[in-house]
Amino acid sequence: MTLAPNVYDAEPIPEAARVEIDKLMKSGDLFRYTAPENAPVTLLEQDFATYFGTRYALAVSSCSAALFLSLKALGLKPGARVLIPAFTFAAVPSAVVHAECQPVLCEVGENYRVDIDDFAIKLGLDIDAVIVSHMRGHTSDMDAIMALCDARGIPVVEDAAHSLGTLWDRRKIGTIGRVGCFSFQSYKLVNAGEGGIMVTNDADLVARAVIMSGAYEHNWSKHIAGSDPALDAAFARWQNKLPLYNLRIGNLSAVIIRPQIPEIARRVADGRANHDYVADRLNTSPFLQVPDKLEKEERAPDSIQFNLVGMTDDETRAFSDVAAARGVKVQVFGLSTDNARAFWNWQFITGEVPDLPRTRAMLMRACDVRLPARLNREELDFVAEILVMAAQEVMENTRAYGT
Ligand SMILES: *Cc1c(COP(=O)(O)O)cnc(C)c1O
Repeated sequence: MTLAPNVYDAEPIPEAARVEIDKLMKSGDLFRYTAPENAPVTLLEQDFATYFGTRYALAVSSCSAALFLSLKALGLKPGARVLIPAFTFAAVPSAVVHAECQPVLCEVGENYRVDIDDFAIKLGLDIDAVIVSHMRGHTSDMDAIMALCDARGIPVVEDAAHSLGTLWDRRKIGTIGRVGCFSFQSYKLVNAGEGGIMVTNDADLVARAVIMSGAYEHNWSKHIAGSDPALDAAFARWQNKLPLYNLRIGNLSAVIIRPQIPEIARRVADGRANHDYVADRLNTSPFLQVPDKLEKEERAPDSIQFNLVGMTDDETRAFSDVAAARGVKVQVFGLSTDNARAFWNWQFITGEVPDLPRTRAMLMRACDVRLPARLNREELDFVAEILVMAAQEVMENTRAYGT
């Protein structure tokens, strides 16, 4: 019998990183602004701007830092209201609070995507900016979201932390809103332990973000090679006018990230194939349901989410226990008292916990299982079989004893 696969370990870092790490060890040149030009962080920013086809990229210490800087760079005043989905990671409302803004939550449907009707209603409540969080890589209807926000002139920040390689209508996720933010934390597609990057075509926004990220004095001149009059003008405009939050990333992270860029396409393809293979298996069970992707969405998953059908809270707990006992850890987002993706646990937000019955109901039945791109068919079969069997077993017992 196959053993339960380890779904937490990352892939090895490509060998090519070793030579560059060695150079840094010898030179000690770890700070992005020591070298006059072509520091690894600057090259990483060029790589990502090229990959996304955006004019600018700014690498920082985390995706949370990128989200925070995005809000600051948009010039939001303290107390500004930022609309976010009620299903996301606590880092998102935290970035809003960090920027001294007020998070406003909108409903998320049982397919894990923004409920557009509720989004449209909430957008009318004095909203100054939107963060669309593509939670677990699920893309909400970006056509509807952009149309609604553009009509009101409300800027959209994309939290694409978990969406590297995902497409919407053949456009790269992260390039549809005003700015897109990505994460290099170890559970994301590209792994540097920690780190983040933001991409945008907006010269003023990126100039403000670059300075606030910690480009003190004239260090901003080391960011973008070649001449860019719009950017030069923006830097001149903001010199000495902004606080320095020092959310920079170091060269060591950059040399670990860069050789992973050529791996993205394979990780995306394998992750998608693995997900769809397991999804088909789970959908054969009457008790498990994997929601369909939206038509314009091409996914890059490294985990699978599915809903339990017709189970009570006790049966949901029993399902999770049976699967765990057989080696597959299932997280039900809303069941534990500390899950950072359940909005009622974001008690650092001032005011009452909002009433969001659709999102709450979804979180109480939505399961989360990691499914990294490196798993092989045998391992996928193992995971799928345990999940299907655990649901069967729990529901058969229920029927047999009539509880
Ligand atoms: C991981 C994650 C973040 C936070 O990224 P960090 O780089 O750890 O700050 C934010 N949003 C989503 C959807 C994430 O998955």
